[in-house]
Amino acid sequence: MARIFVVANQKGGVGKTTTAVNLAAALARLGRRTLLVDLDPQGNATMGSGIDKRDLERSVYHVLIGMCDVVEARQASPSGGYDLLPANRELAGAEVELVDFEQRETRLKDALAAVDDQYDLILVDCPPALSLLTLNGFCAAHGVIIPMQCEYYALEGLSDLVNTIRKVHANFNTRLTVIGLLRVMYDPRVTLSQQVSAQLEQHFGDKVFRTVIPRNVRLAEAPSYGQPGVVFDPSSKGARAYLEFGAELVERLARIEREEAGLPGGQRRAGEGGPGDAATGEAAAAAPTSG
Ligand code: ADP
Ligand code: MG
Repeated sequence: MARIFVVANQKGGVGKTTTAVNLAAALARLGRRTLLVDLDPQGNATMGSGIDKRDLERSVYHVLIGMCDVVEARQASPSGGYDLLPANRELAGAEVELVDFEQRETRLKDALAAVDDQYDLILVDCPPALSLLTLNGFCAAHGVIIPMQCEYYALEGLSDLVNTIRKVHANFNTRLTVIGLLRVMYDPRVTLSQQVSAQLEQHFGDKVFRTVIPRNVRLAEAPSYGQPGVVFDPSSKGARAYLEFGAELVERLARIEREEAGLPGGQRRAGEGGPGDAATGEAAAAAPTSG
């Protein structure tokens, strides 16, 4: 059965797509059968995976509105080693069209069920909004990966995101949990970066991934070559960090699976602390007030 993780943050330009694309490529390199779902009408994950968003016959849009299934719309990323469910601007129409559908928030979940046994991991790249598309991502997922830049305003948005995840956990998807916060575009020379990074560790404990993704121009250049940075220049600092992050995620996943196997009442145990705790982890209750 595939594990489904969404890469989400309602802010734009924080490194969601870079993380989704490079993590997919890193997981593929680690031998994991991986599907990347582009859930952003901007189609950046599609282009960055080497697939031209301008000539898609079928895309995630058609899947969401029920015109085709995932198998018909997915394509293999030419260099990434993973499959992609692509997107382009047509997807923006889904927000409006889905309003008339019943169970409109579980359209993606229902569609992915058909390929569940074909992948080890499914990653979903979300748009920069807490919209119906993102809600579809949250309803389909086991966990959320939150990329964050270590800057003052990053913490402000985080509590909104955590609250949304709590609400989704309570109302739609009790298996949803925050897998972790990933520090991206990190510049160790900036004092504020160091401070915010330390603050994150303090408040969120081991919900913060060990791996830190540095600011690295090769990661920014790779999409214009239609390749994940991990493939474009595997020896660059940025690529090495994402490869390391892939390994850390696999390790974290193994731990989660061990816990689930060892604790048949695991759900109940998590629920004892209230649904918010189960969704976001014990330390998340104390979202930093960025003061
Ligand atoms: P989002 O999907 O959250 O909008 P992107 O992944 O598209 O964010 O990143 C925004 C911009 O920052 C892009 O131009 C991308 O190439 C660049 N970028 C992302 N991560 C890094 C990094 N670690 N180092 C340098 N540039 C990065
Ligand atoms: Mg993006």
